[in-house]
Amino acid sequence: MSAITLRGIRKSYPNGPQILHGIDLDIREGEFIVIVGPSGCGKSTLLRLIAGLDREAEGDILISDRRVNALPPRDRDIAMIFQNYALYPHMTVRDNIAFGLELRRMPKAQRRAKAEAVAEVLQLTPFLDRKPGALSGGQRQRVAMGRAMARDTSIFLMDEPLSNLDNALRVALRTEIKDLHRQLGATIVYVTHDQTEALSLADRIAVLKGGHLQQFDTPDAIYDRPANMFVAGFLGQPAINFVPGEALGRSPHLTAGLRPEMLRLHASQPDGTSVQGRILMSEMSGAEVLIRCETTLGTMSVTCPRKALPPHTASFWIGYDANDALWFDTATGTRVAG
Ligand code: ADP
Repeated sequence: MSAITLRGIRKSYPNGPQILHGIDLDIREGEFIVIVGPSGCGKSTLLRLIAGLDREAEGDILISDRRVNALPPRDRDIAMIFQNYALYPHMTVRDNIAFGLELRRMPKAQRRAKAEAVAEVLQLTPFLDRKPGALSGGQRQRVAMGRAMARDTSIFLMDEPLSNLDNALRVALRTEIKDLHRQLGATIVYVTHDQTEALSLADRIAVLKGGHLQQFDTPDAIYDRPANMFVAGFLGQPAINFVPGEALGRSPHLTAGLRPEMLRLHASQPDGTSVQGRILMSEMSGAEVLIRCETTLGTMSVTCPRKALPPHTASFWIGYDANDALWFDTATGTRVAG
């Protein structure tokens, strides 16, 4: 069964430009979907429409195969988790989790039992009487999830939940969200502008640009077979190198995309295709080194296992296999081969 189906979603604000230009998505039950794209591309708008926080749009929104366009958020069987988790600082973990059940007129004893059962699943039992201020970031996030779970929903919408956190915590919580998803089997729709989060979390990624859906596929497919130059350039860090087709002996109407890990460094000129490069900058990141170099093809990024780095020298040769390259139509940006 489909968890969420979007058909022809168009959105504009009164007297404003169009924000979403006809979005179609079919999200299966239990999938972890990440909606990714640059700031302002319409991600939050789309999520708010799914949640029902905004109900002014064209098209159809189906949740569990039921059209919900006119329904307010509380009738949509979804739970939304925001950036700051929206926990009440003066309430205990137990009351934070149970919050919302009171609005549904559930008797007190039953609310307590429900909160405690949810806390058990989320390993929050030892913290039931604490207030959010005395919890770690990961624990707070679990309380927010707990509140959503107490409502017996199986669809979670998350809007940049990690964006306010420092890097170490972000990486830790990423793992935690992924574990929770595995454990709960819930459907998650997660919005972020961070391509690393998209690649590491998603079962499938929806890439948005300027309110247009660019591609909707698995992280592997998106990385290996990007639909166009925008997708190729947006996902992958360091970013893909674009080289004019002519430089690789092909038509000037084509652009080659070479990912940094497709390139090899050599101390002397290797057989086959290669260009000479001069190091502009090198940056060690543990097992790998990122090198920015100036070449006759333009400035290029190369990632190289540290052990495979040629002996220190300012200039060397960059080899590549033209068969690895992704090929794009230069005028439209669409991928045509590779
Ligand atoms: P994202 O989440 O991808 O950063 P948003 O969905 O928040 O993007 O915004 C998409 C576009 O809609 C932006 O250009 C933004 O300025 C515009 N926008 C968002 N909310 C409103 C509003 N209430 N009125 C007018 N324009 C808005």
